[in-house]
Amino acid sequence: MTTPCVAIVGGGLSGLYAALRLTQAGIDFRLLEARERLGGRIHSGYSSAGATDTASAFDLGPSWFWPDFQPLMTRLTADLNLATFPQYTDGDMVVERAQSLPPQRMAGFDQGNLSLRIAGGTSALIQALVARIHPERLLLNHPVTAARLVGDSIHLDVDNRPEAGAPLAFSHLLLAAPPRLLAGSLDIQPPLRPQERNHWVDMPTWMAPHAKYVAIYDAPFWRQQGLSGMARSMVGPLAEIHDATSAKGQAALFGFVGVPADVRQRLGPEALKHHCRTQLERLFGPQAGAPLDEHLKDWASDPFTATAADREPGDHPVATVDLSQVTGPWAGRMMLISSEAALEQPGYMEGALQATARILPLLERLNAGSSRF
Ligand SMILES: Cc1cc2nc3c(=O)[nH]c(=O)nc-3n(C[C@H](O)[C@H](O)[C@H](O)COP(=O)(O)OP(=O)(O)OC[C@H]3O[C@@H](n4cnc5c(N)ncnc54)[C@H](O)[C@@H]3O)c2cc1C
Repeated sequence: MTTPCVAIVGGGLSGLYAALRLTQAGIDFRLLEARERLGGRIHSGYSSAGATDTASAFDLGPSWFWPDFQPLMTRLTADLNLATFPQYTDGDMVVERAQSLPPQRMAGFDQGNLSLRIAGGTSALIQALVARIHPERLLLNHPVTAARLVGDSIHLDVDNRPEAGAPLAFSHLLLAAPPRLLAGSLDIQPPLRPQERNHWVDMPTWMAPHAKYVAIYDAPFWRQQGLSGMARSMVGPLAEIHDATSAKGQAALFGFVGVPADVRQRLGPEALKHHCRTQLERLFGPQAGAPLDEHLKDWASDPFTATAADREPGDHPVATVDLSQVTGPWAGRMMLISSEAALEQPGYMEGALQATARILPLLERLNAGSSRF
């Protein structure tokens, strides 16, 4: 019997959830994360007043999950004892239809399904997972550039690996990064079948083309005016705005930037932030134009999330084929478990858990010494 050692490439939600489940199953693994931080698309900005305490964490990636149809997120947040709270929607919304028209106040609308936020931001979910995993198994600053199948062993090359020597060798490989990104950045030998690789390239990485802006204030003044903080704008730069006040009451608004990635790049972050402040002032009054702090995260220019193909806004990913499994020599050795590999709700945090949960029935086999998933 050989002792399995699983490589997990990527330390976002799917990679860390896999790390938790391997830990619980008593299977050895190493998680290799390209960035200097864990969380992937789950990332927080902090108000400088609160340094990095969770009361002042603001989501620059995902904010919501929907308990009515996301059972795995509902269960995991409960298992990890994470407090949740509903998205603030009380009051009127503001709509900006054209540059020539003043913003219009209208009755807010019922968004249908309950949207829940995690106290301390979605980063609290990442922190809770990390707290349950042995730190020596989490390798940061480890961008994996190649995966080679050598006999029964999987060899990984890592860019800028600090410690020289033999390649890192593993028995099984879990790829927990977006398939389109991996198709362009990971040299897989022997290569995937062209059709399988094309499926990876064709699968858009959810939200990769987007940018999020957060403005932090000393008080949620819009609530005192009977406004929910929700706004829609055809003028921009923010297209959709919501209240982002933390569970502990640190006031904030956030917006999805509606301007395409190339225009954002030409403008630069400082000019874009200026336009966001000006727009918030138009919509919510003078106080909105003078935030205490602000954050802009452009995911389209982040090389560990987006590729050139992600600069154009695309549709929500749809699972047309099962991306998780590969054929040929890699069958049973390598599985794709990032959110975009989910058969249901690909692209969402629920998808990341769903794709990863597919390894669970296979762990017993690994523990019994099987060289295949
Ligand atoms: C602005 C924004 C808003 C969103 N809003 C929501 C929301 O409200 N609700 C929701 O459910 N979802 C939302 N999402 C989607 C959600 O963030 C993702 O579904 C989820 O975080 C995906 O997790 P993942 O682990 O599959 O992938 P990722 O988070 O992308 O993690 C992949 C990891 O792999 C690493 N990596 C990449 N290449 C390599 C390499 N070669 N070697 C080693 N490591 C590598 C990356 O650095 C990253 O840490 C949003 C995303 C964004 C960006």
